[in-house]
Amino acid sequence: MAEVFDMLMDVNARKLEWNFQVYVVHLWEVPNRFNEKEINGIEIVLQDGGRIQASIPKPLLKKWRGKIVEFKMYIMTHFIVVDKKEKTKTTNNRWSLSFSHRTTVQPVSKPSYPLEAFSFKPIPELLDADKLEDSVLIDVIGEVVGKEDPRELITSKGRETKRLAVILEDLENNSIGCVLFGDMVDQILPYLEEGRVEPLIVIAQFFKPSRWNGKTSVQSHFDVSKLRINPDLDEVKDFRNRRLSEKPSNSTRISQVTSHGPRSGADEIKNGDVVVKTIEEALSSSQPSNSTRISQVTSHGPRSGADEIKNGDVVVKTIEEALSSSQEGPIWIAGTIVSINAGKDDWFYKSCRKCPKKVETPIGNRYECGKCGHTHASASLRFKVEVLVYDGTGSIMLLMWDRETAQLCGRQAEQIKDEESSDGEGYPPTLDSMMDRRLLFKINVKASNMKQYDHVYTVMKICDDEDIVEMNHPKPVQNNASANLIETGCSDSIGISAVVVNMHNDTESMVSLDGVEDSVTSLKSKTPAKRAPMGLKQSVHVNIDTEDEFGFSTNKFSRKTGKRQRIQINESDN
Ligand SMILES: [Zn+2]
Repeated sequence: MAEVFDMLMDVNARKLEWNFQVYVVHLWEVPNRFNEKEINGIEIVLQDGGRIQASIPKPLLKKWRGKIVEFKMYIMTHFIVVDKKEKTKTTNNRWSLSFSHRTTVQPVSKPSYPLEAFSFKPIPELLDADKLEDSVLIDVIGEVVGKEDPRELITSKGRETKRLAVILEDLENNSIGCVLFGDMVDQILPYLEEGRVEPLIVIAQFFKPSRWNGKTSVQSHFDVSKLRINPDLDEVKDFRNRRLSEKPSNSTRISQVTSHGPRSGADEIKNGDVVVKTIEEALSSSQPSNSTRISQVTSHGPRSGADEIKNGDVVVKTIEEALSSSQEGPIWIAGTIVSINAGKDDWFYKSCRKCPKKVETPIGNRYECGKCGHTHASASLRFKVEVLVYDGTGSIMLLMWDRETAQLCGRQAEQIKDEESSDGEGYPPTLDSMMDRRLLFKINVKASNMKQYDHVYTVMKICDDEDIVEMNHPKPVQNNASANLIETGCSDSIGISAVVVNMHNDTESMVSLDGVEDSVTSLKSKTPAKRAPMGLKQSVHVNIDTEDEFGFSTNKFSRKTGKRQRIQINESDN
């Protein structure tokens, strides 16, 4: 009996139970941006009639690394759908998928439809485009007919890398520059020997179109791009046969390109000493200090809700609305925790014993608090947990600090620090008591959230009183009727959260793949893209009786999918 599968182009953020029959057309590992040896996650691109990118977050690496193979077909179920809003995407799909602990993957031995691993962009289409579309990475196939000498580059962090431009030619002798960086240069160099008589055919997969001084090229884009050199694939055999019938193997096939002629399209990095600021730096220079910072930790009892809760003037928004919010400041949302993004050591931080300030390494044998000056022989542990919250309109990543997490799981961080997860790799099982809880969250929308450098929204308060949560479904934005919140069961930790938020910003922010822009391209794209308007505002009831949709137990999700680079080009020749 034929099973019915969901189609990748039908994906939306309104459900979690997906069932796909798909090929994996690309798979790559994303290194930690601070430590290249460490893998932060695996990204894959799936194909049925359409395409979508899916992420395997760090906590799930052990489970899946090596088990999913390119060009094979799988039945895959259960994903969290996220809107990463990345500036540079691998597919046209607005959405991407995240593996959770519920995700299943079954190999299919007899594929029911053919693999279409590549979506080749004809070279003339790139050359002739009035405005080069560069937000979606593309595939190009061609014979290497020219090369430049590789050049050494030094990144501003002192790391050496290489750059090499080759010329690709299609079957109609159209050519385009193809710029390779780093390991890809070493990968292709052995094939570029003088006097080569066999055609060298490459597939540049997921490369970024680029135009600079009127010259069009494709460039490798960090870890996403893949260079397939003379691969044993039908696409390449077909290309080679047709190519050889036009241009037989009797002459030298690769010429040295010394001057930057019109065909090179590759001398984009001409003037040395280009320093590309990280987006973080750009933000910190232009962004006013956090206006919502409250440095005073006000005293408050566990039941002292904020004023707006007392007054009942609260509008609860959908997650879809929250994600498209164009205004800084706090808003309320309602949603269910469907995933906890934490491993063994990243659900807490070390703090002062007197105040919530983070403390660093001890001086001598004591920790000294940079805020209140308190010293103590040991640091205190406080919660700092990322959770994924879903409401039927979308999913949002939230950062919960000590007070809210303790409120939800009923324990203090110190009390559960020695708990072992079943596999010894995960967070303390007590945190799972937060799963599947439907709650009201007051979140702080920051400029970095709106500009999409930071996908994690900070929780300022939560409300876990079931009656109040039940009374406060999201209202359409144009409806001014106030929600009827009362103060029972709601916490107010704005002071604590705000203080620690700043500490947090110092160490981690902006982590999307989009924070990563290749040398020259980033000069052109420092300005964040404007957010596309979202769909219709609407209020949605979430039916928490559908246990299947919310029956997660230990889902995890990671936002750490990218690394940043700052490249300083040291180049004096032309
Ligand atoms: Zn302190």
